[in-house]
Amino acid sequence: MYTGIGASAGIGIGSVIIVKEPSLAYDNTTISDVVAEKERYNKALEECVAKTQAMAEDMKTRVGEKEAEILEGHVLLLTDPEMSSQIETNIDNKMCAEAAVEQVCDMYAQMFASIDDEMFQQRATDVGDIKTRLLKVLLQVEDLDLATVPEGTVLVAEDLTPSMTASINPANVVGFLTEIGGKTSHSAILARALEIPAVLSIDGIVSKLENGQLVILDGSTGEVYESPDEALLNEYTAKRAAYLEEKAALQAFVGKPSATADGNVVELCANIGKPEDALKVVECDGEGVGLFRTEFLFMDRPQVPTEDEQFEAYKKVVETLEGKPVIIRTLDIGGDKEIPYLGLEKEDNPFLGFRAIRLCLQRDDLYRPQLKALLRASAYGELKIMVPMISFVDEFRAVKALLAEIMAELDAEGTPYNKDIKVGIMVETPAASLMADVFAKEVDFFSIGTNDLTQYTMAVDRGNPDVAYLYSTYNPAVLRSIERVIKAAKAEGTMVGMCGEAAADPLLTPLLLSFGLDEFSVSATSILATRKVISLWTMEEANAVAEKAMSMTTEAEVQAYLKSVAK
Ligand code: PEP
Ligand code: MG
Repeated sequence: MYTGIGASAGIGIGSVIIVKEPSLAYDNTTISDVVAEKERYNKALEECVAKTQAMAEDMKTRVGEKEAEILEGHVLLLTDPEMSSQIETNIDNKMCAEAAVEQVCDMYAQMFASIDDEMFQQRATDVGDIKTRLLKVLLQVEDLDLATVPEGTVLVAEDLTPSMTASINPANVVGFLTEIGGKTSHSAILARALEIPAVLSIDGIVSKLENGQLVILDGSTGEVYESPDEALLNEYTAKRAAYLEEKAALQAFVGKPSATADGNVVELCANIGKPEDALKVVECDGEGVGLFRTEFLFMDRPQVPTEDEQFEAYKKVVETLEGKPVIIRTLDIGGDKEIPYLGLEKEDNPFLGFRAIRLCLQRDDLYRPQLKALLRASAYGELKIMVPMISFVDEFRAVKALLAEIMAELDAEGTPYNKDIKVGIMVETPAASLMADVFAKEVDFFSIGTNDLTQYTMAVDRGNPDVAYLYSTYNPAVLRSIERVIKAAKAEGTMVGMCGEAAADPLLTPLLLSFGLDEFSVSATSILATRKVISLWTMEEANAVAEKAMSMTTEAEVQAYLKSVAK
């Protein structure tokens, strides 16, 4: 068995086709006619741009707008004047067009790849894809055509580039296996959009498998089996049927309210990281956005997005949600989220350091434009502002004071915004949880960030595998903290949601319902499954489970009990 990153759920059973790019070798000659060579490069560039635009159009109609944006991003990179002028300078220096393109693309790819962040790693793959396409045009090498692979094919490649994926017929491809890529890489996004199971980042898989070999892949667990015996094949054939049946059954929950079996209605929203994700929330029948992590807007680029760029991004989300609530969280960087161009100093304890609101309150240059962009966008829908990593009341008061100043500026300019905008906090530090009764009187809403609340309550680094056994929301200490926050909010009539991963954990659903959670915010793809689990419980049953679970002493006891009563 091989394991990788399960990046697109589902089970694929089929025959391997190894995708190998044709050779792009060329004679690296010194050229004499610079003008002719530049003309050759510019013609190739034009052809490449046209091809990429056509692929983007095709992708838009066959898959979706969001997926087409990946290829539209390639067009922008191809037509980037800086990159083109560097290539032309290379040709001026007598390099042949192929070498000129390769040198510049490799330089950009290396620059992006050196930044330890998945988004920038993805940019490196994009530049690599563009280089290959430009070289193919220059060398007149035919593009790989994956449109004609036979039914039941599992494609195996070093990486699945957007240009390869563009030609795939999803009716014939039952799985993807690659050597590189993570959960948020473009190949993962495309696989999920095409609903093709995928396992990525499997070491050396291209050389381990052979054309025609039968494989099973599980896109949820990241497991891959080669040449399975009959017993395994039967097991996974049944698993695949059960998965598909469950997926189809979830469609019955589209358009239904999110309510318990006895009619207690809650709100079911989604977490997003990019403006384009908002469409998926609507498609998956989300009732709003419970968390927009804005730091991704800042990570996916080489410099701070301007106020106008941010305004456009926030406006796009609220407009897409058409009046449904959208909670946008202000910048949460530091900790594990680094932004290289901000040049922040390395800290010994980044999770306990200069992070999120602590940093924003010291960086007016970053925070003020973000708040202004948020206020401006509030004129276009139901936008709420959420402040992360709050640990004492003065931080929240400082944000309110800054907002009041910006509102006065907007009034003076005559710029519209929602004067009654709701401003809330993430409850994710033990300090905020312990003071929840005080905060509940000051803020418009809470959203419990269990990812961090678990880390800080248990004093356990959420990314450190050596102490991962402590990182569990089933710990009675964490559960008590959650219960306390929800009850403190209820006592004041303050809306309380949850946007940490625990909101989507079916084992915890009865507890959260019983505590009185108003809003669950989960990934878009978990919306229907969460709605289903909520619908399976009555409040009486949920209360009984909560009472028993909360009387237990250890994490293991709680977990075993919740598993035993799960529906
Ligand atoms: C959390 O801490 O639970 C949360 C939702 O925020 P993030 O995972 O972005 O820190
Ligand atoms: Mg957090």
